[in-house]
Amino acid sequence: MIITDTHTHLYSEAFDEDREEMMQRALENNVKRLFVPAIDSTYTEGMLALEAKYPGNVFLMMGLHPTHVKENYEIELSHVSEMLKTHKFYAVGEIGIDLYWDKSTLGIQQDAFKRQIQLAKKYSLPIVIHCRDAFNEVFEVLEAEKSETLYGIFHCFTGTLEQAKRAISYNMKLGIGGVATFKNGKIDQFLNEISLEHIVLETDAPYLAPKPYRGKRNESLYILKVLEKLSEIYSISEEEIANITTENSKTVFGI
Ligand SMILES: [Zn+2]
Repeated sequence: MIITDTHTHLYSEAFDEDREEMMQRALENNVKRLFVPAIDSTYTEGMLALEAKYPGNVFLMMGLHPTHVKENYEIELSHVSEMLKTHKFYAVGEIGIDLYWDKSTLGIQQDAFKRQIQLAKKYSLPIVIHCRDAFNEVFEVLEAEKSETLYGIFHCFTGTLEQAKRAISYNMKLGIGGVATFKNGKIDQFLNEISLEHIVLETDAPYLAPKPYRGKRNESLYILKVLEKLSEIYSISEEEIANITTENSKTVFGI
């Protein structure tokens, strides 16, 4: 059984004290494919170091996270585009719109999101979407940019059944993580109406730890708890969930 964590911030400061042990815990427990989203240029070096240290296990994305779209975003976007030109990445992400932390940057967030979608199309890469309090705004951009060549993952999906179906209609898989294990997480109530072919697993470590670690630091190993929950929701074995979602991740990332 191989488990794929499609969204884990392995380079985060939260792992500075015990990154190697954290990696070993994951790798020794079948969590062998780790996809790492970018945030901004300050993390690029750390990401490349991880890729060099764990080839075959760590796969990188490149992008500018919506909460890091600030006045200097042109410089950051040049970095993204330069890196995509010179290094192999497996997705453009995480990109999108976040109106939870800052509504005043909506205009530049929309611009950065669109331009990074265009980069994904240019390099035939999937996108990994971050959407917080911004379903309408994200769907508006996807509606304008939709095409056969646009596909990817709606990361940390926490919407309604209708929003799930709409995301899928834009060739997006749903990234399901710790929220599915929360009592008030809501998505566990309709997830079984969504075919497993549209689902990938993720932790979003170090954030959003699943039950019973909720509120603590999350790490890729805890994806086992998400697996357990999905096995319950879909009434099939954990092994089957792991196999199907790993296959889905291969379809998206091309590896
Ligand atoms: Zn993330």
